[in-house]
Amino acid sequence: MQNVICGRCVKCGREYEAVPDLTNCECGGILDILYDYDYIKTVFTKEKLAARSKPTMWRYRELLPVEESTPDTELRVGWSPLYEAPRLAKRLGLKQLWIKDDGVNPTASLKDRASAMAVAKAREAGAEVIACSSTGNAASSLAGNAAAAGLKTYIFVPSRAPKGKVAQLMSFGATVISVQGSYEDTFELSKAAIERWGWYNRNAAINPYLSEGKKTVGLEILEQLGWQVPDYIAISVGDGCTIAGLWKGLKDLYAIGFIDRLPKLISAQAAGCYPINRAVETGEPWHPMEENTLADSIAVGVPRNADKAIHAIRESQGLTVEVTDAEIMAAQKLLGRSCGVFGEPAGVTGTAGVKKLIEQGRLPADATVVSVVTGNGLKDVANAIQACGEPISVPSDMEKLLAAFAENHIDLR
Ligand SMILES: *Cc1c(COP(=O)(O)O)cnc(C)c1O
Ligand SMILES: [Zn+2]
Repeated sequence: MQNVICGRCVKCGREYEAVPDLTNCECGGILDILYDYDYIKTVFTKEKLAARSKPTMWRYRELLPVEESTPDTELRVGWSPLYEAPRLAKRLGLKQLWIKDDGVNPTASLKDRASAMAVAKAREAGAEVIACSSTGNAASSLAGNAAAAGLKTYIFVPSRAPKGKVAQLMSFGATVISVQGSYEDTFELSKAAIERWGWYNRNAAINPYLSEGKKTVGLEILEQLGWQVPDYIAISVGDGCTIAGLWKGLKDLYAIGFIDRLPKLISAQAAGCYPINRAVETGEPWHPMEENTLADSIAVGVPRNADKAIHAIRESQGLTVEVTDAEIMAAQKLLGRSCGVFGEPAGVTGTAGVKKLIEQGRLPADATVVSVVTGNGLKDVANAIQACGEPISVPSDMEKLLAAFAENHIDLR
């Protein structure tokens, strides 16, 4: 890989050769992949990119840690739509707002970006089996992307994982282990199993390439905006890998001169579980928290990418915000009604955060904001019905329909 220099530990600075099965540092720290931007600048230009019709994350190969000979992965990951959302902007009292809908990825979440990268690197490593632990979406995305590549998967999920995600796993033919315990318990068991059987590791806590896959969401947002930099990008945060990846992508673009300033990050967490935001707000190291939120994908009490995430939020001079489950459910409804975008609870948490920041007077009305929807609402139907209600139920009878309309105050004009 001519574009990659090495992997460097974010804790102690030790450097490692960027081999395909690179894990974390001896000191336990997570590695960051370092690039040779001077070289990249000589081979990658906006014009070259614009001439590419490939609607996937692999259009950014010059900024990705893969060998030239490594094939694109099979599923169409990335290049999700960026919708301008004038009605929602008006409702919120914002000048300009865009919704990046990553719920349209092949397995319906942003995690596909990391899983596609894991599959590409597993191939380079010559691995035939990949494993991970996950709150649900990393699992289903790994299972799907691996199935398409003909690789076998072992997946560990906490028993609370919503049925939609488990159904995906089973359909993709993964061997699924449902762990009776928290996400932390799940992670520990997967770690022990991976060590024991030597599977390729798709845990974002360990594999430094995953955030490089996730960073493509940031590359895309800027390309889709014609390199006009928004003031803020809002995203939900659990483990921290996603927001750290987003920031990495933005910094890459800055480093190669595609953009001339950087947006600020908005880190949205659940009020029932916000160890990363708490650390940013208090200036203290992060401490574990309970996992009390219906937004299962971000219920991560022991975040493994906290260091990278906290650094990213601070470096961007970003904002942190915590939203209650009720605010998350309200945002799900609001996004659906004003944009036609259906997000799972963690998927809409960034938008819930934007709404709250405006109400708190912490986000100016003239700001330009991108809010990333990280996962699709179909993943968790039970919570969606809870948030958005049940339909009007009638027998097949016009009189009964009229009565039901009257009863429900439906305005038929
Ligand atoms: C995983 C996930 C997140 C958060 O990503 P982290 O890397 O855990 O911070 C947010 N939303 C959805 C839908 C997810 O699946
Ligand atoms: Zn180290």
